[in-house]
Amino acid sequence: MKSDNRQPELEKLFAKSFLTNRLGHAYLFEGARGTGKKELAKWIAQTIFCEQPESGQPCGVCRNCRRMMEGNLPDLIEIEPDGQSIKVNQIRELKTEFSKSAVEGSKKVYIIDQAEKMTVSAANSLLTFLEDPSQDTYLFLLTTVKENILPTIRSRCQIIHFHSLKREMMEKVLREEGIKEENLGILATLTNDLDEAKNLASDDLFQELQNKVWKWFQLLMKKDSMAILFVATDLMPLMKDKVQVVLCLDLLLFHYRDSMHIAFNRLDVIIHQTRLKSYQEMKQDIKRITYQIEVILKAKQMLEANVQTQGVLESIAIQNQLVK
Ligand SMILES: [Zn+2]
Repeated sequence: MKSDNRQPELEKLFAKSFLTNRLGHAYLFEGARGTGKKELAKWIAQTIFCEQPESGQPCGVCRNCRRMMEGNLPDLIEIEPDGQSIKVNQIRELKTEFSKSAVEGSKKVYIIDQAEKMTVSAANSLLTFLEDPSQDTYLFLLTTVKENILPTIRSRCQIIHFHSLKREMMEKVLREEGIKEENLGILATLTNDLDEAKNLASDDLFQELQNKVWKWFQLLMKKDSMAILFVATDLMPLMKDKVQVVLCLDLLLFHYRDSMHIAFNRLDVIIHQTRLKSYQEMKQDIKRITYQIEVILKAKQMLEANVQTQGVLESIAIQNQLVK
């Protein structure tokens, strides 16, 4: 079982439900990507199938546990969107399986990933099961936003919310994944999603953007007039779409926030720990930093209002020149 995004508190909760025979038949797991929804559903499934569960947890050594870990347990059925949606025939197959299991009396566990992508007819089809769950079937619906699931389905499930991994936890996990020290803070700040963080870490464009924004920030802090030209020469070529522009503004914002923390000597909350020395060597003018943070937040609003990218970025540098 993958251990990088486990939810120990929820595991405890479910172990207890299992021990006291109060495990439900239909659950809706809600949480951001990478919060371990599927890992937990599989962990519970393993407990259900385990031949000798211990304190409500899978033993990890019996035949079924081994088959589970090898991904070779036919009574665990996973459904994912087929293209953009989960279609009615996917659910129909599932229902056929449901009825079979009732006859044969064997346990079955169903995990439906991205359940919000069920078409209305697929969802309606699923409702029949939820109205009369057989004793030996268990259903786990996984979603990022529970409001996107039909209320009629939602009301028949027990809803479990998954909290995002905390920043330190995230940094620890990323460090174990071999992510470079200088990237840990920023990645853990930008996302709670382990997969997304790993993707960013290996994305050359992201690395280059980080380097450029750092250079830009240094020019801005020195009030160097080159900061305006830098937008056209160095930043604009990296702005493939709005995602990069937003990222660029966020990265710049984090440098200013770090500077603010330096000014108040709150060294522990600094995102870019490996830049600590460089920050300390810069002249910290709290009034100017505050002003620049406001300017960046305004720039983000301009971007939302579809003002042209180069204009938005240049306005940051221009206003930086104007402030006393
Ligand atoms: Zn076992």
